[in-house]
Amino acid sequence: MGLRAFLVISVLGLLASCGGAPEATSSSGAAEPQKIFKWRLVTTWPKNFPGMGMAPEKLADRVRAMSNGRLDIKVYGAGELVPALEIFEAVSQGTVQMGHGAAYYWRGSVPAAQFFTAVPFGLSAQEMNGWLLHGGGMALWEELYARYNLVPMVGGNTGVQMAGWFNKEINSLADLKGIKMRIPGLGGEVFDAAGGTAVNIPAGEIFTSLQTGVIDAAEWVGPFNDLVLGFHQVAKYYYYPGWQEPGPNLEFTINKAAWDELPEDLQMMVRTAAEAVNNDVLAEYTARNNQALKELTEKHGVEVRRLPSDVLAELKRIADDKVDLMIGDDPLYQRIHASYHQYRQNVMNYNELSERALLNVRAEIEGY
Ligand code: CA
Repeated sequence: MGLRAFLVISVLGLLASCGGAPEATSSSGAAEPQKIFKWRLVTTWPKNFPGMGMAPEKLADRVRAMSNGRLDIKVYGAGELVPALEIFEAVSQGTVQMGHGAAYYWRGSVPAAQFFTAVPFGLSAQEMNGWLLHGGGMALWEELYARYNLVPMVGGNTGVQMAGWFNKEINSLADLKGIKMRIPGLGGEVFDAAGGTAVNIPAGEIFTSLQTGVIDAAEWVGPFNDLVLGFHQVAKYYYYPGWQEPGPNLEFTINKAAWDELPEDLQMMVRTAAEAVNNDVLAEYTARNNQALKELTEKHGVEVRRLPSDVLAELKRIADDKVDLMIGDDPLYQRIHASYHQYRQNVMNYNELSERALLNVRAEIEGY
C-alpha cells in the first residue's frame, strides 16, 4: 500500500468512526440535510450581453461555486420570463427571487431610485462606490427599497458614459430641438426640457429604432457596448461626455421574503459575490472602452465630438431644477438627496488635489 492510499483509507476510517459517534455531531442536534435553494434571476439586458449583461451570470457562477450548489441561481435574459422594464415589479411581488438592472428604470414609480443609478453631472463610478459602500448611501437605498419588499445590492458600474449617437452636429442648444432620442431616466427629462423628445427603449431595440427613424439619436453606454450593438452603422457623430450618466451604478434586487429565507452564510455569499461582480464590471469597462473607441474611429470612421460647454451648462441648470422637483416633500427622498449632495461636495473638494490634479498633471506633462 502506498502512503497516499494509506492516508485515504485512514481518513475514511476516521470519518466512519465520527459518523458512528453521536457526540461528534453538534450538541445542538445533528445538522439537517442542507436545503437547496433554486432561484430565478431576471434582467433588463439581452441574455449574455457583454459587460453589464454578464454580471448576473458572474454572480450566479460565484454563488453556485461558493455554496457548493446550495444556492442555484438561473439567469433569464430580458423578455425570456419578464419584459426588460417590468423586472422591478416581478421581484417586488416575488414572481421571481432576483433581478439585475438599473434603478433609474423604475423612476416612474420610484422617482428617488434615480440617485442609485446616476444623477446628471453627479458622482463618477469611483465616487458612487464610495457613497454606497462607505458614505451612507447603501442604508438609504435599503430603506427606500424596503417599501417595495426588495433588498438592493451593487451590481456593476460602466464608468463615465458617452453623451450618445447623433446624425447631425450639436453646436448649440437649439440643435437639440425636435430630436427624438433614446435617453432614459432623469437625463431624458432634462433632454425633454431642453427641447428634445426623450424615450426609453431597451438595449435590444435601439439599433432598429435608429435605423428605421423611429428615433434620431440614442445614448446607450460607451464604446465597448455601443460597438457591439453597431450604432456606428446608423449614426455618424459620437458625442461626449456622458453628462446624463457620469458613473451609473447597476443593481441586483432580491425579493425580501426570499432573502429572509436564506441562511446567514448564503446571504453573505450573495452579498460578497455582488460586491465582487461590481468591481469586475467596472474593471472590464475600463479595460475595453479604449480598444473599442479605437476601432470605432480608426476602422469605422466615427466622428467623435465634445458637446459645447454652453450646452452642457444649460443641461446642468435644468438638471438641478429637475432634481429639486423630484425630491418633493417625501422626507426619505430629502434625506437621500442631502446625503448625496453633501458627499458629492466633499469628494469634489478632495478630487481637486487627487483625481483631477493627477489627470491634469499627467496631461500637462505628456501633452494631451
Ligand atoms: Ca446610458
